[in-house]
Amino acid sequence: MKITFYGGVGEVTGSRHLLEAGGRKMLLDCGLFQGHRAEAIAKNKTIPFDPAGMDATVLSHAHIDHSGGLPILTQRGYRGAIHCTLATRELCAIMLMDSAHLQQHDALFFNKKHAKSGRAPIEPLYTEEQAESCLRSFQTLPYHSPLALGGTVEVTLYNAAHVLGSAMIQVRADGRRLLFTGDLGRRRAILMEPPELPKGVDTLVIESTYGNRVHEPIGLVEGQLRAVIERAVAEKGKILIPSFALERTQEILFVIEKLSRHGEIPAVPLYVDSPMAVNITEVFNRHMDGFSFSPEFLDYVAREGNPFQFRSVHYVRSPQESMSLNDLPGPMIVLSASGMCEGGRILHHLRNNLDKPTTTVLLVGYQAEGTLGRRLQRGDREVPIYGFPQKVEARVETMHTFSAHADKDDLLWFVGRLGPTLKRIFLVHGDPAQRTAFQGRLLEAGYRDVQCPQFGQAFELGA
Ligand SMILES: [Zn+2]
Ligand SMILES: [Zn+2]
Repeated sequence: MKITFYGGVGEVTGSRHLLEAGGRKMLLDCGLFQGHRAEAIAKNKTIPFDPAGMDATVLSHAHIDHSGGLPILTQRGYRGAIHCTLATRELCAIMLMDSAHLQQHDALFFNKKHAKSGRAPIEPLYTEEQAESCLRSFQTLPYHSPLALGGTVEVTLYNAAHVLGSAMIQVRADGRRLLFTGDLGRRRAILMEPPELPKGVDTLVIESTYGNRVHEPIGLVEGQLRAVIERAVAEKGKILIPSFALERTQEILFVIEKLSRHGEIPAVPLYVDSPMAVNITEVFNRHMDGFSFSPEFLDYVAREGNPFQFRSVHYVRSPQESMSLNDLPGPMIVLSASGMCEGGRILHHLRNNLDKPTTTVLLVGYQAEGTLGRRLQRGDREVPIYGFPQKVEARVETMHTFSAHADKDDLLWFVGRLGPTLKRIFLVHGDPAQRTAFQGRLLEAGYRDVQCPQFGQAFELGA
């Protein structure tokens, strides 16, 4: 068995690992590199192995940094299947199409802007047609259902508890048992159950996004949201929540619904104003069958009904309806994309409401350096929106409680529970500081073989 790391090493995007085992060549994830445009495009275009020579691909979950490179792979001659859970396939059908749409839109915008400068026009990494054709290679594989990939290779998926449908990938071959966590969820989360603990693993490839951070306890979420909502209702203000369409939106919907149903907050209209979030919430609705949800959440659904079909939730699809929210008075809550305010409908809500002191912008996710979300978070009193300066009189609050990733205590708990069969650990999906800190913790805990692989580095795992 041999593994080569071709992405998500020393960074959090572009998850992509090549595993050669039992006479087969397979890919674990094929994500998109994200970041500065020119650098990301160059990285995404370079495939450092022959796609046509690969036998199979196994996908951990639908996030674009894990799945977004798949259409490039199929375009370049990959003919094998892409194995993942049913929910991941349904989510990818939405997210890969959105990714293609964004890239086509970006290329168009860039080429128009630089038309007269003599710069060479850029091509989208893939089109919607190419994403659609890639989706035809997807084959669903339920959790706990071993799949023989030929040779001596057997693949089994376990619940990673990160987002709906997320899986850890276990590969058995050549007498070895390797587990790739993909992104790993928390021991205690709002919707998901804790990650599963497969037995007999000897080689672990584990994410390290928060290898050096402890999250605020999830139990604080309700109190924090209640305080923000009560104040906004008293002031008749609007709460604007820039939110990632997958998982974060549904977590917030659930918490608000629960508070509202139990009479802990005053009645307030709630708008989900993002077509992608609306489509993704429909996938959640189709999987209310214990797929990867926590027993507490399923209990709630059995007792009180589906929280995503709550009466005061309005799902907004058309742009006209979205614009019409600007004419309605507060109080109201608007959940809209994008999560870092870099595009999408959240921008027109911000433009229309940032100058009002009764407005609250509630940041519930990571805000990368250089994004509009980060500028608001650090307290800028004037920000550019659609290229024009916009005064900020609104209150900007951040909740650090939400995260779909294990923190350093969760990660250590997970590794510890894998037991004494575990001999070798590879750390991926983490910035250098987080990854190195986590490596230190594992060495302290007595694990002797803990690697931080570099891009293109290969390791013989033996038979
Ligand atoms: Zn993820
Ligand atoms: Zn990820």
